[in-house]
Parts: sequence; structure tokens; C-alpha cells
Amino acid sequence: MAQRPGFPIKLDKKAANAPAKTPAAKPAPSHPQGLGLDSSAVRQRMVQKLAAQGLKDPMVLQAMGAVERHRFVESALVNQAYEDTSLPIGLGQTISKPNVVARMIELLREGTAGKLGRVLEIGTGCGYQAAVLSHIATEVYSIERLKGLHEKARANLRHFRLANVHLLFGDGMLGYEKGAPYAAIISAAGGENLPQAWLDQLAVGGRLVAPTVTVNGQQALMVVDKTPQGLKQTVLEAVHFVPLKSGIS
Ligand code: SAH
Repeated sequence: MAQRPGFPIKLDKKAANAPAKTPAAKPAPSHPQGLGLDSSAVRQRMVQKLAAQGLKDPMVLQAMGAVERHRFVESALVNQAYEDTSLPIGLGQTISKPNVVARMIELLREGTAGKLGRVLEIGTGCGYQAAVLSHIATEVYSIERLKGLHEKARANLRHFRLANVHLLFGDGMLGYEKGAPYAAIISAAGGENLPQAWLDQLAVGGRLVAPTVTVNGQQALMVVDKTPQGLKQTVLEAVHFVPLKSGIS
């Protein structure tokens, strides 16, 4: 298990308001009112767009407004950090667009009153979604199979000091037995089938949200509820995620 840093679960407000250190984090031309990317107004605008697109879970919108997405993307791309677009994060992988992140987390939380308990994320990538999840769950276990990205996520997340995020390097297709059972499991990579380990490690009453290839060969968002009577599977809209791969690299 990853070591837990002994910090409180909150954003470092002082650092968030400090002047940007990298030249690339200068105010974006697309924000003509002179709002730097460190300004929460930039994120509030993104949240308003998400709400206009139909996202409505207040806890998810709050989390999306809190996490500074520009801290997770390459300096050449920071000006696009709050656009509704997916962005490359290195090693051929991408950070999902905000709308998709919010949609999947809203599905995870559906019917839950407060925060979720332990959540397992497959595909840490740059760590952005793990940071968002840290606001809506008591504990987040996030697995990445590419060492380079696992380390990048660790570096990206250091700034936020999220004591409830546990980054793991390994094959997420095997889940993470030590943290099971999970109130929710979310995958940022899509496979042909849902790995059995995920279904086994999901708590009764828990929900899994993952892109999966369906009968027509296209990827769709799959929701699986583990009920006392068994698994209930729902296929939702078409999506485009990077492939789920076995093993580590
Ligand atoms: N949630 C991420 C999105 C990353 S893209 C973010 O916010 O940036 C999906 C990630 O899934 C990629 O980094 C890819 O390497 C990873 N991945 C694919 N198959 C995996 C597996 N079996 N175990 C763990 N990670 C996997």
C-alpha cells in the first residue's frame, strides 16, 4: 500500500493563489479578462458549462471546481486545461475531458447521500481524476500500469497534499485486493470485458463504471450495480477511452 502522507485533506490555498511559476501558466488568451489559470473563476466557468451540459450533482460540480486541472497537463497545453477537451499526458495516454470525468463520477455517486467510501480507480494517468475523486470519497486507491505515468501522477499530486489518495503501480485488471471491498470502481481505460477481479472486489451495494467494448465492437460506458440479488448491468452512451492493457510497463 502507498504510504499516507500526514497532511490534511485540503487544497493548499496559499499555493493555489500564488503567482504561476512557469511561463506557460500565464493568463490564457482565451480568458481576456486577465484571469490567470490559478483563478478559481476560470474553473467556475468550466463548472457552469458542465451544469449547462446537464451535470447536476452538487458534490461533483464542487469537486470539478476545486481541482486545478492546469496543474496536470503539459506546459504547452495549459491554456486548454479548462476547455472541454481530452489532452495528451504522455506515453500515448490522454486525460479525459472534464465532461466525461464529471459524468462518470456523477454515475458513481448516483443514489449516495454523502461521500462514497473506498473507491478504486483503474488508470491513474496524470492523477487528475484521482484528485477529483478525493473530494467525493473517503479513500481513493488509484492504479497505473505505466511506471512513467505513475511517477508523473505522484509528482502532480504532491502539490495538493491529498492524504486520502493512494497511488499504486501495477496491473489494474487485477484490482487491488487489499482495499476491497470498494463502494465504487471507476476505470479510465476500456477493455473487451470487465475483469472478474473488479466484480469480486466491488462491495454489495457498490457500483462500477467503466468503458467496455460492446457487441457492435464500439466502446460504451458500462454501469454495473452489485445488488444482494446479483449483478445488474446497464449500457449507456458511446465513449472513446484508451485501451485497458494487462501487465505493467
Ligand atoms: N484518470 C486518468 C486518465 C488516464 S488515461 C487521468 O485523470 O489522467 C487511462 C490510463 O489507464 C492510462 O494511463 C493507461 O496507462 C492506464 N491503464 C490502461 N490499462 C491499465 C491497467 N490494466 N492497469 C492500470 N492502468 C491501466
